[in-house]
Amino acid sequence: MSDKLNALINQVSDSGLLPDTNTHKLRFDVRSASSNRLYRVSIRKSTNQPECGCPGFIRHRHCKHLDAIAPTLKSAVELLALEEGKQ
Ligand SMILES: [Zn+2]
Repeated sequence: MSDKLNALINQVSDSGLLPDTNTHKLRFDVRSASSNRLYRVSIRKSTNQPECGCPGFIRHRHCKHLDAIAPTLKSAVELLALEEGKQ
């Protein structure tokens, strides 16, 4: 992961970037606005779509956490695609 990508994710996450899993990349935690709860945001590798671990996302497939960071997440996905293309 590049410093640029880390810096981008650090803008929206306390945890910073976490290691990829077999199924997900660009993993990091975001803090709930209404509590100290942390929700895990990630990109599913098979679809390249973002997911959030909060109850709202699990029920509705979208949530306020993803909405709040959408521009940053989009930039991060594009940056990662560029970096993957260079490998
Ligand atoms: Zn959420």
